[in-house]
Amino acid sequence: MNRDEMLRSVEDFKEKWDFIIVGGGATGLGTAIEAASRGYKTLLLEQSDFAKGTSSRSTKLAHGGVRYLKQGNLSLVLEALKERGILRRNAPHLVHDLPFVVPTYDWWEGPFYGIGLKLYDALAGREGFGSSKILSKEETLNHIPTIEVEGLRGGVIYYDGQFDDARLSINMAETAYEQGAMLINYMKVSSLLKDEEQIIGVEAVNMETNKKYRLNTKVVINATGVFSDSIRKMDDNSVKNIITSSQGVHIVLHRSFLPGDSAIMVPETDDGRVLFAIPWHDCILIGTTETPVKKYPLDPVPLCEEIDFLLKHAARYLTKDPTRSDILSAFAGLRPLVKSGDEENTAAISRDHTINISRSGLVTITGGKWTTYRKMAEDTIDHAAVLAHLDPEPSVTKELQIHGYHNHPEEFDNLQIYGSDATAIEALLREDKIYKELLHPSFSTIAGEVIWTVRNEMARTVEDFLARRTRLLLLDAKASIEMAPATAKLMAKELKKNKKWINDQVNIYSKIAENYLVK
Ligand SMILES: Cc1cc2nc3c(=O)[nH]c(=O)nc-3n(C[C@H](O)[C@H](O)[C@H](O)COP(=O)(O)OP(=O)(O)OC[C@H]3O[C@@H](n4cnc5c(N)ncnc54)[C@H](O)[C@@H]3O)c2cc1C
Repeated sequence: MNRDEMLRSVEDFKEKWDFIIVGGGATGLGTAIEAASRGYKTLLLEQSDFAKGTSSRSTKLAHGGVRYLKQGNLSLVLEALKERGILRRNAPHLVHDLPFVVPTYDWWEGPFYGIGLKLYDALAGREGFGSSKILSKEETLNHIPTIEVEGLRGGVIYYDGQFDDARLSINMAETAYEQGAMLINYMKVSSLLKDEEQIIGVEAVNMETNKKYRLNTKVVINATGVFSDSIRKMDDNSVKNIITSSQGVHIVLHRSFLPGDSAIMVPETDDGRVLFAIPWHDCILIGTTETPVKKYPLDPVPLCEEIDFLLKHAARYLTKDPTRSDILSAFAGLRPLVKSGDEENTAAISRDHTINISRSGLVTITGGKWTTYRKMAEDTIDHAAVLAHLDPEPSVTKELQIHGYHNHPEEFDNLQIYGSDATAIEALLREDKIYKELLHPSFSTIAGEVIWTVRNEMARTVEDFLARRTRLLLLDAKASIEMAPATAKLMAKELKKNKKWINDQVNIYSKIAENYLVK
């Protein structure tokens, strides 16, 4: 997947696209796969990098959503559990099952959560990842040796899925490309083109060169998450907003706070939400919060209160109380929620997806969850194909393997995250011995990965590599800043950029990464 080649193909394309999809997060990328795999002519435009928005900032759970069970939204849980199974089948190199332990400190909690989680198992049916079970105190401690023992009675274990959200996004972009779609990152849609009230295309700006493009299509699909209303207003400035949002923050700590392979699920925090502590690489991820927000920056920043909230709850459940200085990285994401009237209580707003079609033919797909992206995409293309007067084609994505599909990821050790591409990366490493050099003494990431992701995964900036092609920004923000100069130099050679570009990239990256450091 190469951006320059893709751009040339788009410039040479003289027909009308069937669909132009705006937004390269989970929803847009899923929709591009769905459309292209049905044989429709598809172009996706992303203003920044793929998954730069919410889709790289999630809890990284492919799950039915135990909390929606609590809300009684069984249909959402059922659908998400089905999609969870499909996702693990089609992307086993990035999605795996994970045991979660709900520690219990009151006599009623064991039977109460035990029954709830049996219902979760039953809803998953044949797609189940493992049976839930009530645990004794000893068994709980075996799973979570660092769980707070004072007052501990036992626990309940259940199983859900964990995945790498940004890596999956990149592999989804590659899948869409292999199915015939064109996808361009750093291409912002600036307005919609109309002919007598009907949308006939978009005007887009190449953010690297400022060159403008007018691109024609049968239907524009708006998959811009929290930015959906801004595209809807390009269509009709008088429409009411349908999106509201809340910010969710995660902190990342060293793995010693939660050794072992099980995660902790806290079913009720002080503000009535669920909280997870999840092993992730050599770290643990703790989150999340729910802070209503009115502004939607592309780089949201965690609030002090959110960090304190997470530290306070982590201290309640872990033997060693983490402090601010233990935080390796903290990141925030914005939930694209569809308005329901009670906007103050965003935790109660449904995570179901919504498809909205405007009078001039703009299709907006929003809400939902990462886990349900495929179903959202299927529903969207079912509607959009009718609107575009295209011959109906059946969906094939339930059985479509995601790029990098590989069933034995352990074979590749450090290159596991690349799935089946690891073989090609190993071949690339033989080209130049510097490609095997580590970018940082504390991480196994090597120079060759920079080269690979520039050549094949459309990495254009230092941040693309450190935040989304690898996850170093989220795993250790300070170390990632130290890796920026070497990364920039390697990228500059590949992209034929000069010294100024290297300096600019290091400065821009350091500024972004500063917001992930907690002082
Ligand atoms: C804290 C948190 C934790 C979560 N955890 C989970 C979880 O564990 N499991 C789960 O299933 N779900 C989870 N979710 C939900 C999930 O992450 C989101 O539902 C999903 O990522 C939304 O994807 P999206 O593509 O709709 O939006 P986004 O990922 O935000 O993508 C929208 C894209 O549109 C682009 N864009 C905007 N305007 C333009 C324009 N004018 N031109 C071109 N491009 C444009 C943006 O740059 C952006 O990349 C979580 C969400 C949050 C906030």
